[in-house]
Amino acid sequence: MALIGQDIAQAKQLLEQGQLVAIPTETVYGLAGNALNPDAVLSIFTAKDRPSFDPLIVHTDSIEKAERWVKYFPTPLKSLAKEVWPGPLTILLPKKELIPDIVTSGLETVGIRIPHHPLTLSLLQSLDFPLAAPSANPFGYISPTQAEHVNQQLGDLIPYILDGGACQVGIESTIVAWENNRLHVLRLGGLSVEVIETLSKQKVVLNLNQSSNPQAPGMLKSHYAPRKPMHIGNIDELIKKYKDKRIGVLSFQRDVPNTTIQRILSPTGDTHEASKNLFRFLRELDQSEAEVLITEFVPEYDLGRAINDRLQRATYSE
Ligand code: AMP
Ligand code: MG
Repeated sequence: MALIGQDIAQAKQLLEQGQLVAIPTETVYGLAGNALNPDAVLSIFTAKDRPSFDPLIVHTDSIEKAERWVKYFPTPLKSLAKEVWPGPLTILLPKKELIPDIVTSGLETVGIRIPHHPLTLSLLQSLDFPLAAPSANPFGYISPTQAEHVNQQLGDLIPYILDGGACQVGIESTIVAWENNRLHVLRLGGLSVEVIETLSKQKVVLNLNQSSNPQAPGMLKSHYAPRKPMHIGNIDELIKKYKDKRIGVLSFQRDVPNTTIQRILSPTGDTHEASKNLFRFLRELDQSEAEVLITEFVPEYDLGRAINDRLQRATYSE
């Protein structure tokens, strides 16, 4: 198992040696390596069993540093970055040669983000290279939101996990790009479309889930998925349908009696609380006695859209 602790100097030393360290962020835990070292980046793909066509997000701690790795930073995106960073927003920008092709799966753009977590920001400040860091889970499985989740699945493959407690946002970053003078959202995530539209004072173009779109490989239909079969729809009807099985329920607000196990995303109906709980609850249900998992869509506003996107990919639709 990996060592778990809060020793930034140790994390820094390992990263400088080209090794991997799991890092806390406000979205989910990342599996980090030196983004400028192709061998370190290759070991991220290997540890996760991640296909090489799925590009990694690069993390840094200031806009000035970000500008070292990109050819230019369109003004509207930079203004948005200034408002939101550190925060759950990844911005696609044209990369300089310095960023190895393996990071971006050969694409001309690189996804950059300043994560909002004190430990990881201190670590990034102490480094003179950025960190490539996808979520610290085996490819396709539920993303980790606590150090222990990382240890359960990747503990034997990495030396150190920087423990920053539970992730406060709980789902991955929103990904945006600037194309044809418009702001495009390529992945829904921890910063809502409503907030982006308010801050940028413009309507965004939603350009989601197009795995055939070479801009966004990795937006796969099945992702973030538990190992147990999970079905989404009307909870009462699904309970009738699977009445002969041990059922685990993930509801938005409502208490559902007489199930083997139940988790309520947010009893008060708060999509931020729901997003913070989502992956932990999915993990708990997946590790429970239940044979079949049942869930429902949450309201399509604020972080609800990103939650529904994750639920859709984790389930079989009825
Ligand atoms: P994550 O697994 O949360 O680190 O997110 C990585 C995802 O970001 C990938 O699966 C892609 O969908 C997206 N991404 C990262 N870099 C790029 C890029 N240069 N162009 C398009 N999408 C990207
Ligand atoms: Mg991931």
